[in-house]
Amino acid sequence: MRRFLIAGNWKMNGGPYDAAELLQGLKEQKAEVDENVDVLVCPPFVSIGMASEILHDTDIQVGGQNLHFEENGAFTGEISGSMLVESGCNYVIIGHSERRQYFGETDETVNKRVKKAIEHKLAPVVCVGESLAQRKKDEHFDLVKNQVKAALFGLSEDDAMDVVIAYEPIWAIGTGETASPEQAQEMHKHIRDVLAELYSQDVADGINILYGGSMKPANAEELLSQPDVDGGLIGGASLDAGSFSEIITIAE
Ligand code: PGA
Repeated sequence: MRRFLIAGNWKMNGGPYDAAELLQGLKEQKAEVDENVDVLVCPPFVSIGMASEILHDTDIQVGGQNLHFEENGAFTGEISGSMLVESGCNYVIIGHSERRQYFGETDETVNKRVKKAIEHKLAPVVCVGESLAQRKKDEHFDLVKNQVKAALFGLSEDDAMDVVIAYEPIWAIGTGETASPEQAQEMHKHIRDVLAELYSQDVADGINILYGGSMKPANAEELLSQPDVDGGLIGGASLDAGSFSEIITIAE
């Protein structure tokens, strides 16, 4: 019923020329993707136009790494939902831990961005996840529950169905350390239970929950084989066309 989503989060890496090179490589290896898998790349804003152009004849989708919750105006440095749509996006990452940690994003602004994304028919990929200190204090389940509830606050059942949740334990991001398949499954199941409590089991069963944090070809198989892991949000390994294609092939 749920299709896998394999999403690349390029973060602040590469300009349009690098994007073109990476995407040509990806296209050569994966222009056609199995129908049970959706593939998404989220380049830096300046490379989105280039990415949409290169990928227009493939099954690969393009997304932004953030959006502002206002329509337009005096918000220097920000990008709006309509700009993303016009540039060819149909997804947007929201509330990545790096945004929360370095750019002051809060549960409240994450919620505003989620609502704005939905208004523009951009599927929000909402990131949640705990730090190592929070896990050690055994606060991780409550923390993630609160993040999910806050992000979806005020969303109807229909709108919630368009949301993708990405569980990204902060201690596993870019560290080479991955959550074990059991740790991932346990948290994904917890998130699905929270969604069922907020909406219904049907809604919860329809929402994609991705794992993110040092996912790579070597560990993708065991993570993706967990019943509640519906794909990956991939940073480092998405910057290499070969590794990213390999993960897509594993999901297929
Ligand atoms: P990583 O990043 O795969 O490099 O750990 C994942 C992410 O932050 O989305």
